[in-house]
Amino acid sequence: MGKIRTVLGDIEAAALGVTYMHEHVITHPPASVTDCDLAMESIAAATRELSHFHLAGGRALVEMTPRDYGRDPLALRAIAAATGVHIICTTGWLKDKFCRPWVADRTVDELAEEMIREITVGIDDTGVRAGVIKAASSLDMITPAEEKVFRAAARAHHATGALITTHTERGTMALEQIDLLRSEGVRPERILIGHLDHKPELDYWRAVAQTGANLGIDQIGKEKYLPDSRRIELILAMAAEGYAAQLCLAGDLARASYWPAYGDWGGPGLTYILWRFLPWLHERGLDSRQIEQMIVATPARLLPLAVA
Ligand SMILES: [Zn+2]
Repeated sequence: MGKIRTVLGDIEAAALGVTYMHEHVITHPPASVTDCDLAMESIAAATRELSHFHLAGGRALVEMTPRDYGRDPLALRAIAAATGVHIICTTGWLKDKFCRPWVADRTVDELAEEMIREITVGIDDTGVRAGVIKAASSLDMITPAEEKVFRAAARAHHATGALITTHTERGTMALEQIDLLRSEGVRPERILIGHLDHKPELDYWRAVAQTGANLGIDQIGKEKYLPDSRRIELILAMAAEGYAAQLCLAGDLARASYWPAYGDWGGPGLTYILWRFLPWLHERGLDSRQIEQMIVATPARLLPLAVA
């Protein structure tokens, strides 16, 4: 089994521990993003928030900010070193609105080459290496720029073994993402489809799970989109059908106001899933073995690379 590539170096899968599969630690969004709550730029705040996460039992986060949304590998390395939380960062790009200027004039192979370099050599000259590959689609469509990123992600996956982890807009296009990646030879077991709790329909989740792909239930704590009570019902239904091992949990807390460390104690923060959501899930009947499966064993199965 290959190792998991964190911003501080490679670790064994057994050393990973409790992991959220889709979070944001530092973001410097492009100028087109005018909502300043979306900028998460404080290393001091991130260090405090990740310390709270560690105190609650959290040990690892997949940091899903790609280059076109203001990824900051050196800051992530400093925060991981200060808190002891394993951070796995991503290569790849976001949806059309963000990726188009970066990818429009380049070939699929050029994009794949950049992804492979970021995983095997490092991001720019930082020496920090990425551990997962991100690709994204827009609402109800995969644009030509996005399709290029998906095809490049598949090729980079074949070269490295890295997990392909996606953004769906409001949960749409999940099956189309899987079909596109399959057409490039990717096994669905190596895909994590993001943001499916934006489309909280059991039939849809089941159709994704039946392909073998993994499902990101990664908006936990954002009651404005969906009450957590409904997330819990869906998780219980999926577990009852035998799909618990394909569910990945996270909060995708990509706003400063979601984190207590930025001063607003109204947000869920990184402790919410561990201190509130999982106990609630347990009360509603999911046994601790299945909870451990989702939060520890599945990340340890998905994150190892195939290259040294
Ligand atoms: Zn995200």
